Amino acid sequence: MTKQFSDLGISAPILRALTELKFVKPTEIQQEIIPLFLSNTHDIVGLAKTGTGKTAAFGLPLLQLIDTTNTTIQAVILVPTRELGHQIFSNLESFAKYLPEVSIAATCGGIPIKPQIERLSSPTHIVVATPGRLIDLIQRKAIRLNETKFLVLDEADEMVTILKEGLDEIIAELPKNRKTFLFSATMPGTIKQLIQNYLNKNVVQVSANMETIGNQEIDHQYIVVDPIEKLNVLMHFLTSKEGERGIIFCKTKAAVNKLAKNLAINRFSSGALHGSLSQGIRDRIMEQFREGHINILVATDLAARGIDVAVISYVVNYHLPDVYEVYVHRSGRTARAGAKGLSLTVLQQEEVAEIADFERELGIKFSKFQKPSSENIEENNILLWAKQIFKTKPNHDISLDLKTKIKTVFHHLTKDELIDKLLANYLQQIKTEKSSKTELVQTNQKR
Ligand code: ADP
Ligand code: MG
Repeated sequence: MTKQFSDLGISAPILRALTELKFVKPTEIQQEIIPLFLSNTHDIVGLAKTGTGKTAAFGLPLLQLIDTTNTTIQAVILVPTRELGHQIFSNLESFAKYLPEVSIAATCGGIPIKPQIERLSSPTHIVVATPGRLIDLIQRKAIRLNETKFLVLDEADEMVTILKEGLDEIIAELPKNRKTFLFSATMPGTIKQLIQNYLNKNVVQVSANMETIGNQEIDHQYIVVDPIEKLNVLMHFLTSKEGERGIIFCKTKAAVNKLAKNLAINRFSSGALHGSLSQGIRDRIMEQFREGHINILVATDLAARGIDVAVISYVVNYHLPDVYEVYVHRSGRTARAGAKGLSLTVLQQEEVAEIADFERELGIKFSKFQKPSSENIEENNILLWAKQIFKTKPNHDISLDLKTKIKTVFHHLTKDELIDKLLANYLQQIKTEKSSKTELVQTNQKR
């Protein structure tokens, strides 16, 4: 029989919140971690693929172990990105709905530090922080961590580089007898190093469903394209997914900006997310995505790390990631909490051989996604052109005189006739463009 949350030692007020959140059964990693964490005897390393509920695995016992008669900071949760910090903060707040005495603060970068300093002057039990901002607060002597009992490193594999630089400075503030908990979806050598350096020797390692990295519900597919048709193939795919939510990952910020711009021109409901945007913009885009006001997020790896938005039906790898683990994180954005999802990787012919490496390294299987025919792509482009016209706002700078002249030209046409002519004209234009492009290629080749 599978265990219930109550069997794991979770207290009544938390159980009540879980019922409201429709958390019926604990996930495998939660079943393993929660009793161990509550026993407060060991450091723990928790390994589980993305989307398996690691936040609650550490969040629930942590909330329960807080001593609310004491007003000092007792737990520090370090996270790699601001977005993830805010997500965990709100997860904890909802788990703690019926524990009003527990006080949680988020101190992540990207927003003014002053209000955070002020916030920390009132009693706080748990701090969710990005390493950079926490170090800033430490240096300003705005935070006291000398009674911290628990340190959580979430998504540690994504924090390795940040932590290399700053963890010593943070650890120096914490008492030696604290417990340290490290959570990760993958276990590269750098994480083993971190565990050796910062966790107690009798650390307990718990892994759940790690035999195959990557979620079983994710359908991994790849599509082979020529560089020049890449955008068109993508847009064809996106049209087929209209009304569904997805994330497109690009390798660089510049590539994100360029693609987002192209999608905007073609009237896809999309937004860009990467580390160089201001926090205000990043928050707004995430909010719009979460609320369903935009369907497509174009993002770098950094910006979308650990983000949990329900019902993301697909992710697209517009560029192949350099690192296997990155693929796990990207594809893990879809098929959350038992849903199904598609992870589509767009490749050029010379990259196809790498698929076998990803399959071997990650223990997953890819299938080939059927590329649309050139007729299908062309049809889609025409459809996009029509939508573009439909969504264009009238230009009020055009003089009345000119407008009247133009209207006179079209005077005798019905709407159907006008559409026919516009369409024929557009197709003619495309044809001319195409043939001048081929001519150019031919002339270049002759040289
Ligand atoms: P991870 O950190 O392992 O990637 P999260 O903690 O972000 O995963 O959880 C993934 C999703 O699953 C979240 O939407 C969360 O609310 C949901 N979830 C977690 N545990 C349970 C549970 N026991 N029952 C139902 N949903 C859950
Ligand atoms: Mg997580």
